[in-house]
Amino acid sequence: MIVMKFGGTSVKEAAAMTATAEIISARIHQQPLVVLSACGGITDKLLRLAREAGLRHIQESTSLLSEIEEHHKKILTTKTPDNQQAHHDMDVLLAQLREFAEGLSLLGECTPRSLDAIASFGERLSTTIMTHILKANGNRATFFDARTVMRTDDNFVNAAVDRVQLRRLSKDLLLPLYSNNDVVVTQGFIGSTDAGITTTLGRGGSDLSAALFGEALDASEIQIWTDVSGVKSADPRIIPTARTIARMSFAEVRELANYGAKVLHPDTIMPAVERNIPVVVLNTFEPEHAGTVITADIPDGSAAVSAVSARHDATMIRCDIPPDTNATTVLNELMDYCVLAKREVLHCTIGESVCIVVIQGPEPVLYESRVPYTVGQVSLLCVAGPNLRHDAVSLKTVCAELVQYSPAALAIGTSDVSVVAILSPAVVQDALKGIHNIIEQQ
Ligand code: ASP
Ligand code: MG
Repeated sequence: MIVMKFGGTSVKEAAAMTATAEIISARIHQQPLVVLSACGGITDKLLRLAREAGLRHIQESTSLLSEIEEHHKKILTTKTPDNQQAHHDMDVLLAQLREFAEGLSLLGECTPRSLDAIASFGERLSTTIMTHILKANGNRATFFDARTVMRTDDNFVNAAVDRVQLRRLSKDLLLPLYSNNDVVVTQGFIGSTDAGITTTLGRGGSDLSAALFGEALDASEIQIWTDVSGVKSADPRIIPTARTIARMSFAEVRELANYGAKVLHPDTIMPAVERNIPVVVLNTFEPEHAGTVITADIPDGSAAVSAVSARHDATMIRCDIPPDTNATTVLNELMDYCVLAKREVLHCTIGESVCIVVIQGPEPVLYESRVPYTVGQVSLLCVAGPNLRHDAVSLKTVCAELVQYSPAALAIGTSDVSVVAILSPAVVQDALKGIHNIIEQQ
């Protein structure tokens, strides 16, 4: 069996739902478990609804409720206008949502637990609609409430899943559904405590749900359907010639994501990687594109340099070490500052000077020290390749390119699959282009 996860844009409105249903129907022989997000934008609206209701802002919450209702009703009337059962199922959910919202405005409070209860309606509505669309298209499809198996702790808004229970319960309760059905449709993002209280796995949690389901069911593949055709060799807005990488290792995806690439959050697919299940990133709006296959191992035949990414939210503090001062003392001072100011450290080097790169954050960096220092914004550029550290020839080419932009530091060997350069924001675009030329010339 396979897991097919569709994000918010893939189920946003009737047209996207149609495209998604066609993609599912075409893969029905693979016994798909379909994991859906809420319709794009709906989770945000639901969370706003919960907050406004908790503040007793009746007008705002009433209009949000109407928007949410209309959005889903419109899809259903476009897709299955005469399906009484579909309309009934949706009316039940919408009535429940209304009751919950009224409850919050009566109580005048909105706890993390309430946020989860309200947010869960997004995925419950999208999956209800999709199940009916699939059935109307002639598929043997059934709805499955993820909360019956996705057991979590009670850390509302960011709950942790009990993977052992998920595996056992999925085998007992979910798998048997395939004896009468070809496809099962369930929700990403939501779960429940052992006591049956609804929880969520955190924003964007549907990818994690998909990976966890894949792991629990020993799926042969996990497909993440989104609105881009796989992982690109660079940000196409900066490098228009950026191309999709056909196969790449999980380690590369993680490096790229750490350094600014807007690929799926690598931690979310960890459960799949641990079990060696390939994760394929595909485009709902270009379904014939093969996308990117992400595997735990280094894929055969991949290019030495695969992709380049950059992040621009970093600040570098650089301390010159006076002759009478010990570098360790300077480093300790810098680290104390990071602890006190809660700064996440991205990079650190000690030599003639001590350099530390931290994430900028909302507050400015206010470092004070007796030793001379400079503070400035920097960009971090990451060049990824499946085996870059052990490939001296490619390393030499990459480094020769990067040194032209006078990096404050080059980190080689901190990861097997990347080289990271700390650059002035003024030159980072040129460096990206230079590295991408190397990628194109391979
Ligand atoms: N609907 C949830 C969110 O918007 C989960 C997801 O889409 O992955 O955060
Ligand atoms: Mg998402």
